[in-house]
Amino acid sequence: MSHVMQTYGRLPVAFSHGQDSYLFDTDGKRYLDALSGIAVSTLGHNHPVLVRALAEQAGRVLHTSNLYQIPAQEALADRLAALSGMSEVFFSNSGCEANEAAIKLARYYGHKRGVEKPAIVVMEQAFHGRTLATLSATGNRKVQAGFEPLVSGFVRVPFDDVGAIEQLAVSNQSVVAVLLEPIQGEGGINVAHTKYLQALRRVCDAHGWLLMVDEVQCGVGRTGKWFAHQLAGITPDVMTLAKGLGSGVPIGACLTAGAAVGVFGPGNHGSTFGGNPLACTAALTTLEVLASDDLLANAVARGQQIRDGLAAALAGVGALVAIRGEGLMIGVELDRPCGALVGQALEAGVLINVTAERVVRLLPPLTFSEADATALVETLVPLIRNFVTA
Ligand SMILES: *Cc1c(COP(=O)(O)O)cnc(C)c1O
Repeated sequence: MSHVMQTYGRLPVAFSHGQDSYLFDTDGKRYLDALSGIAVSTLGHNHPVLVRALAEQAGRVLHTSNLYQIPAQEALADRLAALSGMSEVFFSNSGCEANEAAIKLARYYGHKRGVEKPAIVVMEQAFHGRTLATLSATGNRKVQAGFEPLVSGFVRVPFDDVGAIEQLAVSNQSVVAVLLEPIQGEGGINVAHTKYLQALRRVCDAHGWLLMVDEVQCGVGRTGKWFAHQLAGITPDVMTLAKGLGSGVPIGACLTAGAAVGVFGPGNHGSTFGGNPLACTAALTTLEVLASDDLLANAVARGQQIRDGLAAALAGVGALVAIRGEGLMIGVELDRPCGALVGQALEAGVLINVTAERVVRLLPPLTFSEADATALVETLVPLIRNFVTA
Protein backbone atom coordinates (compact mmCIF):
# COMPACT_ATOMS: atom_id res chain seq x y z
CA MET A 1 0.00 0.00 0.00
CA SER A 2 1.21 3.49 -0.84
CA HIS A 3 2.23 5.67 2.07
CA VAL A 4 1.34 8.76 0.05
CA MET A 5 -1.89 10.25 1.36
CA GLN A 6 -4.59 9.55 -1.21
CA THR A 7 -5.66 13.13 -1.95
CA TYR A 8 -5.42 12.63 -5.73
CA GLY A 9 -6.97 10.13 -8.10
CA ARG A 10 -3.84 9.49 -10.14
CA LEU A 11 -3.50 8.17 -13.68
CA PRO A 12 -1.47 4.93 -13.99
CA VAL A 13 1.64 6.51 -15.49
CA ALA A 14 4.94 7.88 -14.16
CA PHE A 15 7.34 9.98 -16.18
CA SER A 16 11.09 9.56 -16.07
CA HIS A 17 12.13 12.60 -18.10
CA GLY A 18 11.03 15.19 -20.62
CA GLN A 19 12.31 16.99 -23.67
CA ASP A 20 10.67 20.13 -25.12
CA SER A 21 6.91 19.42 -25.44
CA TYR A 22 7.27 15.70 -24.69
CA LEU A 23 7.37 13.57 -21.55
CA PHE A 24 8.63 9.96 -21.50
CA ASP A 25 7.21 7.35 -19.14
CA THR A 26 9.22 4.73 -17.30
CA ASP A 27 8.62 2.27 -20.19
CA GLY A 28 9.97 4.75 -22.73
CA LYS A 29 6.59 5.69 -24.25
CA ARG A 30 6.41 9.29 -25.46
CA TYR A 31 3.58 11.74 -24.62
CA LEU A 32 2.83 15.14 -26.10
CA ASP A 33 2.40 17.43 -23.10
CA ALA A 34 -0.62 19.66 -23.75
CA LEU A 35 -1.13 20.36 -20.04
CA SER A 36 2.28 21.50 -18.71
CA GLY A 37 1.54 20.04 -15.27
CA ILE A 38 -1.47 22.44 -15.20
CA ALA A 39 0.06 25.59 -16.71
CA VAL A 40 3.39 25.19 -14.91
CA SER A 41 6.02 24.04 -17.44
CA THR A 42 6.10 27.34 -19.31
CA LEU A 43 9.36 26.52 -21.11
CA GLY A 44 8.54 22.86 -21.77
CA HIS A 45 10.92 20.24 -20.44
CA ASN A 46 14.71 20.28 -20.11
CA HIS A 47 15.02 23.80 -21.50
CA PRO A 48 18.81 24.29 -21.80
CA VAL A 49 18.83 27.93 -20.65
CA LEU A 50 16.76 27.16 -17.54
CA VAL A 51 18.70 24.00 -16.71
CA ARG A 52 22.01 25.88 -16.92
CA ALA A 53 20.75 28.82 -14.82
CA LEU A 54 19.39 26.51 -12.11
CA ALA A 55 22.53 24.38 -12.00
CA GLU A 56 24.68 27.46 -11.76
CA GLN A 57 22.55 28.97 -8.96
CA ALA A 58 22.42 25.65 -7.08
CA GLY A 59 26.21 25.59 -7.17
CA ARG A 60 26.36 28.99 -5.50
CA VAL A 61 23.51 29.15 -2.98
CA LEU A 62 19.97 27.69 -2.80
CA HIS A 63 18.52 29.51 0.15
CA THR A 64 19.45 32.30 2.51
CA SER A 65 16.45 33.95 4.22
CA ASN A 66 14.19 36.95 3.95
CA LEU A 67 16.13 38.21 6.97
CA TYR A 68 18.80 39.22 4.42
CA GLN A 69 19.00 41.06 1.11
CA ILE A 70 18.30 38.74 -1.85
CA PRO A 71 19.57 40.27 -5.12
CA ALA A 72 17.71 37.78 -7.36
CA GLN A 73 14.47 38.68 -5.55
CA GLU A 74 15.09 42.40 -6.08
CA ALA A 75 15.81 41.77 -9.77
CA LEU A 76 12.67 39.63 -10.18
CA ALA A 77 10.49 42.21 -8.43
CA ASP A 78 11.93 44.92 -10.74
CA ARG A 79 11.19 42.79 -13.79
CA LEU A 80 7.63 41.97 -12.72
CA ALA A 81 6.99 45.63 -11.90
CA ALA A 82 8.27 46.70 -15.33
CA LEU A 83 6.14 44.11 -17.15
CA SER A 84 2.95 44.84 -15.19
CA GLY A 85 3.24 48.54 -14.37
CA MET A 86 2.69 47.58 -10.73
CA SER A 87 4.83 48.62 -7.75
CA GLU A 88 5.54 46.05 -5.02
CA VAL A 89 5.89 42.26 -4.93
CA PHE A 90 5.59 39.77 -2.07
CA PHE A 91 6.96 36.32 -2.92
CA SER A 92 5.33 33.06 -1.82
CA ASN A 93 5.75 29.43 -2.87
CA SER A 94 2.37 28.71 -4.44
CA GLY A 95 -0.82 30.17 -5.81
CA CYS A 96 -2.92 29.72 -2.70
CA GLU A 97 -0.27 31.47 -0.62
CA ALA A 98 -0.16 34.36 -3.08
CA ASN A 99 -3.95 34.61 -2.73
CA GLU A 100 -3.73 34.39 1.07
CA ALA A 101 -1.44 37.40 0.92
CA ALA A 102 -3.99 39.23 -1.26
CA ILE A 103 -6.88 38.36 1.07
CA LYS A 104 -4.94 39.45 4.17
CA LEU A 105 -3.89 42.64 2.41
CA ALA A 106 -7.50 43.48 1.47
CA ARG A 107 -8.63 42.99 5.06
CA TYR A 108 -5.77 45.11 6.38
CA TYR A 109 -6.61 47.80 3.86
CA GLY A 110 -10.24 47.68 5.02
CA HIS A 111 -9.37 47.97 8.69
CA LYS A 112 -7.08 50.91 7.96
CA ARG A 113 -10.09 52.57 6.32
CA GLY A 114 -12.25 51.91 9.38
CA VAL A 115 -14.30 49.04 7.95
CA GLU A 116 -14.94 46.75 10.92
CA LYS A 117 -15.72 43.54 9.01
CA PRO A 118 -14.21 43.94 5.56
CA ALA A 119 -15.78 41.80 2.83
CA ILE A 120 -14.24 40.62 -0.44
CA VAL A 121 -16.41 40.05 -3.51
CA VAL A 122 -15.70 36.70 -5.20
CA MET A 123 -17.17 34.93 -8.21
CA GLU A 124 -19.26 31.87 -8.93
CA GLN A 125 -17.11 29.01 -10.39
CA ALA A 126 -13.97 30.70 -9.05
CA PHE A 127 -10.94 28.71 -7.93
CA HIS A 128 -8.40 30.30 -5.61
CA GLY A 129 -6.76 27.37 -3.82
CA ARG A 130 -7.06 24.82 -1.03
CA THR A 131 -6.11 26.66 2.15
CA LEU A 132 -9.03 27.60 4.40
CA ALA A 133 -9.30 31.20 3.22
CA THR A 134 -8.77 30.39 -0.45
CA LEU A 135 -11.20 27.45 -0.46
CA SER A 136 -13.73 29.76 1.17
CA ALA A 137 -13.15 32.22 -1.69
CA THR A 138 -13.51 29.37 -4.21
CA GLY A 139 -16.92 29.03 -5.87
CA ASN A 140 -17.12 25.25 -5.92
CA ARG A 141 -18.96 23.36 -3.20
CA LYS A 142 -16.88 20.21 -3.81
CA VAL A 143 -13.76 22.07 -2.68
CA GLN A 144 -15.49 23.36 0.47
CA ALA A 145 -17.71 20.48 1.60
CA GLY A 146 -16.64 18.99 4.91
CA PHE A 147 -14.28 21.82 5.81
CA GLU A 148 -16.83 24.09 7.46
CA PRO A 149 -16.81 26.45 9.22
CA LEU A 150 -15.57 28.40 6.21
CA VAL A 151 -13.67 31.65 6.54
CA SER A 152 -16.22 34.48 6.57
CA GLY A 153 -15.98 37.79 4.77
CA PHE A 154 -16.65 36.71 1.19
CA VAL A 155 -19.63 37.85 -0.87
CA ARG A 156 -20.33 35.85 -4.03
CA VAL A 157 -21.69 37.18 -7.32
CA PRO A 158 -22.13 35.72 -10.82
CA PHE A 159 -18.99 35.96 -13.02
CA ASP A 160 -18.93 38.49 -15.86
CA ASP A 161 -22.09 40.24 -14.63
CA VAL A 162 -21.71 44.03 -14.35
CA GLY A 163 -25.19 44.51 -12.88
CA ALA A 164 -24.45 42.24 -9.92
CA ILE A 165 -21.40 44.32 -8.99
CA GLU A 166 -23.20 47.64 -9.37
CA GLN A 167 -25.98 46.30 -7.14
CA LEU A 168 -23.48 45.36 -4.42
CA ALA A 169 -21.93 48.80 -4.55
CA VAL A 170 -25.30 50.15 -3.46
CA SER A 171 -26.26 47.46 -0.95
CA ASN A 172 -23.05 46.44 0.84
CA GLN A 173 -21.02 48.97 2.80
CA SER A 174 -18.46 46.41 4.01
CA VAL A 175 -16.96 45.56 0.63
CA VAL A 176 -13.28 46.51 0.34
CA ALA A 177 -12.12 44.45 -2.65
CA VAL A 178 -13.11 42.31 -5.63
CA LEU A 179 -11.13 39.12 -6.34
CA LEU A 180 -11.47 37.33 -9.67
CA GLU A 181 -9.68 35.32 -12.33
CA PRO A 182 -9.71 37.29 -15.62
CA ILE A 183 -10.00 33.85 -17.22
CA GLN A 184 -11.39 31.20 -14.89
CA GLY A 185 -9.24 28.09 -15.15
CA GLU A 186 -10.66 25.29 -13.01
CA GLY A 187 -14.15 26.74 -13.59
CA GLY A 188 -14.01 25.81 -17.29
CA ILE A 189 -11.88 28.40 -19.17
CA ASN A 190 -14.46 31.18 -18.78
CA VAL A 191 -13.15 34.42 -20.26
CA ALA A 192 -14.29 37.67 -18.64
CA HIS A 193 -15.37 40.21 -21.25
CA THR A 194 -13.07 43.20 -21.72
CA LYS A 195 -15.99 45.52 -20.97
CA TYR A 196 -16.69 43.69 -17.72
CA LEU A 197 -13.11 44.09 -16.47
CA GLN A 198 -13.19 47.77 -17.44
CA ALA A 199 -16.50 48.22 -15.62
CA LEU A 200 -15.04 46.50 -12.54
CA ARG A 201 -12.12 48.93 -12.63
CA ARG A 202 -14.55 51.86 -12.70
CA VAL A 203 -16.72 50.51 -9.86
CA CYS A 204 -13.65 49.77 -7.72
CA ASP A 205 -12.29 53.27 -8.33
CA ALA A 206 -15.64 54.86 -7.51
CA HIS A 207 -15.96 53.01 -4.17
CA GLY A 208 -12.33 52.73 -3.06
CA TRP A 209 -12.35 48.94 -3.50
CA LEU A 210 -9.20 47.04 -4.44
CA LEU A 211 -9.42 45.25 -7.78
CA MET A 212 -7.55 41.98 -7.23
CA VAL A 213 -6.88 39.60 -10.12
CA ASP A 214 -5.89 35.99 -9.58
CA GLU A 215 -3.59 35.27 -12.54
CA VAL A 216 -2.11 32.14 -11.00
CA GLN A 217 -3.21 30.17 -14.08
CA CYS A 218 -3.74 32.76 -16.82
CA GLY A 219 -0.69 34.97 -16.11
CA VAL A 220 2.94 34.93 -17.25
CA GLY A 221 2.47 35.01 -21.01
CA ARG A 222 -0.05 32.22 -21.41
CA THR A 223 -2.73 34.39 -23.06
CA GLY A 224 -0.25 36.16 -25.34
CA LYS A 225 -0.07 39.13 -22.95
CA TRP A 226 2.30 39.10 -20.00
CA PHE A 227 -0.80 39.18 -17.82
CA ALA A 228 -4.37 38.41 -18.89
CA HIS A 229 -5.87 41.64 -17.48
CA GLN A 230 -3.73 43.52 -20.02
CA LEU A 231 -6.11 42.21 -22.70
CA ALA A 232 -8.61 44.68 -21.20
CA GLY A 233 -6.11 47.54 -20.88
CA ILE A 234 -6.66 47.91 -17.14
CA THR A 235 -4.25 47.83 -14.18
CA PRO A 236 -5.43 46.00 -11.06
CA ASP A 237 -4.49 47.02 -7.51
CA VAL A 238 -3.44 43.49 -6.62
CA MET A 239 -2.36 40.60 -8.85
CA THR A 240 -1.36 37.08 -7.84
CA LEU A 241 0.88 34.77 -9.86
CA ALA A 242 2.32 31.28 -9.39
CA LYS A 243 1.99 28.22 -11.66
CA GLY A 244 3.94 29.21 -14.78
CA LEU A 245 6.20 31.77 -13.09
CA GLY A 246 9.03 29.40 -12.19
CA SER A 247 8.58 26.83 -15.01
CA GLY A 248 8.34 24.06 -12.41
CA VAL A 249 10.30 25.51 -9.50
CA PRO A 250 7.67 26.52 -6.91
CA ILE A 251 7.20 30.28 -6.62
CA GLY A 252 4.21 32.58 -6.20
CA ALA A 253 3.87 36.34 -6.12
CA CYS A 254 1.42 38.94 -4.87
CA LEU A 255 1.86 42.31 -6.59
CA THR A 256 0.40 45.65 -5.59
CA ALA A 257 -0.30 48.95 -7.33
CA GLY A 258 -2.30 52.08 -6.59
CA ALA A 259 -4.17 52.07 -3.30
CA ALA A 260 -2.74 48.67 -2.33
CA VAL A 261 0.84 49.97 -2.24
CA GLY A 262 2.31 50.36 1.23
CA VAL A 263 -0.57 48.60 3.00
CA PHE A 264 1.78 45.94 4.38
CA GLY A 265 4.84 46.92 6.40
CA PRO A 266 7.45 44.93 8.33
CA GLY A 267 5.86 42.16 10.38
CA ASN A 268 2.51 42.08 8.55
CA HIS A 269 3.26 39.03 6.42
CA GLY A 270 6.06 36.56 5.77
CA SER A 271 7.33 33.30 4.32
CA THR A 272 10.38 31.15 5.08
CA PHE A 273 10.97 29.91 1.55
CA GLY A 274 9.20 32.67 -0.41
CA GLY A 275 11.42 34.27 -3.05
CA ASN A 276 14.55 32.28 -2.28
CA PRO A 277 17.52 32.54 -4.66
CA LEU A 278 16.78 29.30 -6.54
CA ALA A 279 13.09 30.08 -7.09
CA CYS A 280 13.80 33.66 -8.16
CA THR A 281 16.44 32.46 -10.61
CA ALA A 282 13.88 30.10 -12.15
CA ALA A 283 11.36 32.92 -12.51
CA LEU A 284 13.87 35.46 -13.84
CA THR A 285 15.08 32.96 -16.42
CA THR A 286 11.51 32.08 -17.40
CA LEU A 287 10.71 35.77 -18.01
CA GLU A 288 13.99 36.26 -19.91
CA VAL A 289 13.36 33.34 -22.27
CA LEU A 290 9.71 34.34 -22.80
CA ALA A 291 10.97 37.73 -24.04
CA SER A 292 14.07 36.65 -25.96
CA ASP A 293 12.30 33.83 -27.83
CA ASP A 294 9.13 35.82 -28.55
CA LEU A 295 7.02 33.21 -26.79
CA LEU A 296 4.05 35.52 -26.15
CA ALA A 297 3.60 35.83 -29.91
CA ASN A 298 4.05 32.08 -30.14
CA ALA A 299 1.26 31.59 -27.58
CA VAL A 300 -1.07 33.70 -29.74
CA ALA A 301 -0.15 31.91 -32.99
CA ARG A 302 -0.23 28.37 -31.61
CA GLY A 303 -3.44 29.07 -29.69
CA GLN A 304 -5.10 30.32 -32.86
CA GLN A 305 -3.80 27.31 -34.77
CA ILE A 306 -5.19 24.87 -32.20
CA ARG A 307 -8.58 26.58 -31.86
CA ASP A 308 -8.97 26.95 -35.65
CA GLY A 309 -7.82 23.38 -36.23
CA LEU A 310 -10.27 21.97 -33.69
CA ALA A 311 -13.12 24.18 -34.91
CA ALA A 312 -12.62 23.11 -38.52
CA ALA A 313 -12.25 19.40 -37.75
CA LEU A 314 -15.15 19.32 -35.27
CA ALA A 315 -17.55 21.40 -37.39
CA GLY A 316 -20.94 19.75 -37.40
CA VAL A 317 -20.29 17.76 -34.22
CA GLY A 318 -23.51 18.42 -32.33
CA ALA A 319 -21.99 17.63 -28.94
CA LEU A 320 -19.50 20.49 -29.26
CA VAL A 321 -20.77 23.46 -27.24
CA ALA A 322 -17.86 25.92 -27.55
CA ILE A 323 -14.16 26.32 -28.14
CA ARG A 324 -12.84 29.23 -26.11
CA GLY A 325 -9.83 30.80 -24.44
CA GLU A 326 -6.94 33.12 -25.19
CA GLY A 327 -3.51 32.09 -26.44
CA LEU A 328 -2.49 28.74 -24.99
CA MET A 329 -5.29 28.62 -22.40
CA ILE A 330 -7.96 26.68 -24.27
CA GLY A 331 -11.25 25.06 -23.31
CA VAL A 332 -13.31 22.74 -25.49
CA GLU A 333 -16.75 22.40 -23.95
CA LEU A 334 -18.88 19.37 -24.76
CA ASP A 335 -22.54 18.85 -23.94
CA ARG A 336 -21.74 15.95 -21.56
CA PRO A 337 -19.27 14.91 -18.86
CA CYS A 338 -16.07 13.89 -20.64
CA GLY A 339 -13.56 12.94 -17.95
CA ALA A 340 -13.04 9.62 -19.74
CA LEU A 341 -11.25 11.49 -22.53
CA VAL A 342 -8.24 12.05 -20.25
CA GLY A 343 -7.43 8.32 -20.10
CA GLN A 344 -8.14 7.84 -23.79
CA ALA A 345 -5.79 10.69 -24.66
CA LEU A 346 -3.15 9.20 -22.38
CA GLU A 347 -3.44 5.91 -24.29
CA ALA A 348 -3.05 7.89 -27.51
CA GLY A 349 0.07 9.61 -26.17
CA VAL A 350 -1.32 13.07 -25.34
CA LEU A 351 -1.61 14.69 -21.91
CA ILE A 352 -4.78 16.74 -21.46
CA ASN A 353 -7.17 17.50 -18.62
CA VAL A 354 -10.91 17.87 -18.17
CA THR A 355 -12.28 20.50 -15.80
CA ALA A 356 -15.77 21.56 -14.78
CA GLU A 357 -16.82 18.02 -15.89
CA ARG A 358 -17.47 18.92 -19.53
CA VAL A 359 -14.52 21.06 -20.60
CA VAL A 360 -11.39 19.62 -22.20
CA ARG A 361 -8.59 21.89 -20.96
CA LEU A 362 -5.43 22.50 -22.99
CA LEU A 363 -2.51 24.36 -21.40
CA PRO A 364 0.55 23.51 -23.52
CA PRO A 365 4.03 24.88 -22.83
CA LEU A 366 4.53 28.33 -24.39
CA THR A 367 7.39 26.76 -26.38
CA PHE A 368 4.84 24.54 -28.23
CA SER A 369 5.86 24.31 -31.90
CA GLU A 370 3.66 24.42 -35.01
CA ALA A 371 4.27 20.66 -35.43
CA ASP A 372 3.31 20.06 -31.78
CA ALA A 373 0.05 21.95 -32.31
CA THR A 374 -0.71 19.99 -35.49
CA ALA A 375 -0.02 16.71 -33.69
CA LEU A 376 -2.27 17.75 -30.80
CA VAL A 377 -5.22 18.56 -33.08
CA GLU A 378 -4.72 15.38 -35.14
CA THR A 379 -4.76 13.20 -32.04
CA LEU A 380 -7.58 14.94 -30.20
CA VAL A 381 -10.10 15.21 -33.02
CA PRO A 382 -10.74 11.47 -33.56
CA LEU A 383 -10.83 10.94 -29.78
CA ILE A 384 -13.52 13.59 -29.33
CA ARG A 385 -15.46 12.39 -32.39
CA ASN A 386 -15.43 8.78 -31.17
CA PHE A 387 -16.30 9.82 -27.65
CA VAL A 388 -19.46 11.72 -28.60
CA THR A 389 -20.70 9.08 -31.06
CA ALA A 390 -19.94 6.06 -28.86
C1 LIG B 1 -3.97 26.58 -9.29
C2 LIG B 1 -4.64 27.83 -8.91
C3 LIG B 1 -4.55 28.32 -7.59
C4 LIG B 1 -3.87 27.57 -6.48
O1 LIG B 1 -2.49 27.46 -6.71
P1 LIG B 1 -1.64 26.41 -5.83
O2 LIG B 1 -0.23 26.66 -6.28
O3 LIG B 1 -2.13 25.04 -6.18
O4 LIG B 1 -1.87 26.74 -4.41
C5 LIG B 1 -5.13 29.54 -7.33
N1 LIG B 1 -5.78 30.23 -8.28
C6 LIG B 1 -5.89 29.79 -9.54
C7 LIG B 1 -6.59 30.61 -10.57
C8 LIG B 1 -5.33 28.56 -9.90
O5 LIG B 1 -5.47 28.10 -11.15
